Amino acid sequence: MPEGDTVWLASKRMHDALAGRVLTRFDLRIPRHATADLTGRPVTEVVARGKHMLTRIRGGITLHTHFRLDGSWHLQRPGARWRGGPAHQVRAVLANAEWEAVGYRLHDIRLLPTAEEDTLVGHLGPDVLGPDWDPAEAARRITADPDRAVGDVLLDQRVLAGVGNLYKAETLFLTGLSPWTPVGEVPDVPKVVATAYRLLRANRDHPEQSTTGSLRRDETHWVYGRAGRPCRRCGTRIQLGEQGPPGRAEYARVTYWCPRCQPGWPSRPG
Ligand SMILES: [Zn+2]
Repeated sequence: MPEGDTVWLASKRMHDALAGRVLTRFDLRIPRHATADLTGRPVTEVVARGKHMLTRIRGGITLHTHFRLDGSWHLQRPGARWRGGPAHQVRAVLANAEWEAVGYRLHDIRLLPTAEEDTLVGHLGPDVLGPDWDPAEAARRITADPDRAVGDVLLDQRVLAGVGNLYKAETLFLTGLSPWTPVGEVPDVPKVVATAYRLLRANRDHPEQSTTGSLRRDETHWVYGRAGRPCRRCGTRIQLGEQGPPGRAEYARVTYWCPRCQPGWPSRPG
């Protein structure tokens, strides 16, 4: 599942392939923008903002895309066979003389004036991997509503942008916090912020997502994806539960935790 580090790396690769080069193909396969044609213009830059990707094109135009759960961009040489999935899942094709970027299963595709990007990403909190990362502001936003569960707050992109379910679960394990701890009872919020930053930053430049430091199969995570298996620290069985804002089932997400290493209020979902 793409998190901030995945989008950051994808944006960097897109930037390296597209920035400064004139578009020879611009093909958006969604009804709203099916006739848009920006060939002949250079891409100026590709940047990540949280989990959003912004492809800026000369003339003050931005292409906004989001991976959600399963989107991806594949970079290849022009004319090579597309390999990222069936053709009907292709939502965008951007090419220049050297590279072709094929976007599969992309969501929230929008063309808009670059000056209006904030209408799509202005609500985001401090971007963990952004140039303007502000840990003090992130900590302030985390504690703004002291009754919210820390596991919910870390996923709220308005609080801090870029953390998804994997880094949430691993951050809470490494800081010894039950996902249901109210943020007002978290003793060291800056440590939570610093841990999330450290994990995302450590994985920013490569596609593997390891929070343990190991890239060996089955050793990359502390708790995420390990329900029923022994905690690497204490041997207790890792628990799996659903968590989300009360009464908002559509936002429920599974979470993983070790009840012994992450005690607290409440230690089980209620
Ligand atoms: Zn444990």
